[in-house]
Amino acid sequence: MDKLLPKTALKDWLEWASTRYHLLGPVEAEDGSRSFAAVSADRLPALDNRRQCASPKEAVLPSCETLFTFDPGDGQPRLVPPGGEFAPTLMVGMKPCDVRSLEVLDRVFLDGRFQDPYYAGRRKSLVTVAYVCESKRWSCFCSSVGDPIEWSLAADVALTDVGEAYVATANTPAGEELLGCPAFRDVSADELATRDIVWNALRERAEPFDPEKVAAGVDWEEPAWDAIAEKCIGCGVCSFLCPTCTCFDIQDETIAGGKVERYRVRDTCQFCDFTKMGHGHNPRPSRRERVRQRISHKFKYIVHQCGICGCVGCGRCVELCPVNADLRGVLSEIVSGNGCESVSA
Ligand code: SF4
Ligand code: SF4
Repeated sequence: MDKLLPKTALKDWLEWASTRYHLLGPVEAEDGSRSFAAVSADRLPALDNRRQCASPKEAVLPSCETLFTFDPGDGQPRLVPPGGEFAPTLMVGMKPCDVRSLEVLDRVFLDGRFQDPYYAGRRKSLVTVAYVCESKRWSCFCSSVGDPIEWSLAADVALTDVGEAYVATANTPAGEELLGCPAFRDVSADELATRDIVWNALRERAEPFDPEKVAAGVDWEEPAWDAIAEKCIGCGVCSFLCPTCTCFDIQDETIAGGKVERYRVRDTCQFCDFTKMGHGHNPRPSRRERVRQRISHKFKYIVHQCGICGCVGCGRCVELCPVNADLRGVLSEIVSGNGCESVSA
């Protein structure tokens, strides 16, 4: 179902939606960085092609969350689950790569033998509104690893900027319900044609690599590992900000009353202690093994395990790496097998 939302009516739609959902959207902080935060009719989401620094992962997989509390009680110990319900949440302004990243996380935390109940609770309460980028940023390479329009159509609603209005495409019953708001009006054939121009432009593939070729070319002894390991300082920014990285650690902390809180906290395979075992052995002792793991996992291991490429081409790791270790250069080298000349940005 397609409808038109005049830009001047965005406020009305959010007001209407706020009676049903807690609203999240891209919000700019004073330092210029962007993340998903509460939005409303008075605090509109930023809808443009600028990607949020933090990914939507925080809404479904918080960087730190309590799993349960152990209460020794009065001779009757018990495990207390974290309190609170998962509020119905509408996330507005997700980029196509953000929408796809949720599909990757779903494969990891919902499919297979075990479901993660914490992730499942948040994910099932989440309704998504994509914003189809009108152009790519210099660091984006979504169309090199997939079809950003197909990804957008996995959101409940996809918004495409056609000038003075957005074409809204509902893809699910929840999306159709959202388009039932009186702020929407019928869309014309010309407006749909303008939307299709935006879609086709975003689909254009600029980069020379292809995820199937990368997966086929990923090799244990690939020379590109040495080149990127030489630059990498192991800060972990690339994986902490990556929307699809899922590594976490489990910690226990004693709190008041002799209780112990068990919590899950974000971690990364780029840290030297991540794979260090209890007896001291570390199977990934150097950065070479650690960067190899990260990239091989994204393009090969997760494809075998979950049937989906683990990179959505969002470009966060490209744009925010402090030493400009450009993943795209490594991927090009893997595909072409030409050595390791284009690892630098
Ligand atoms: S952001 Fe750059 S320097 Fe930091 S761990 Fe990732 S590749 Fe290495
Ligand atoms: S590996 Fe880099 S480009 Fe790919 S999804 Fe993660 S942050 Fe985005």
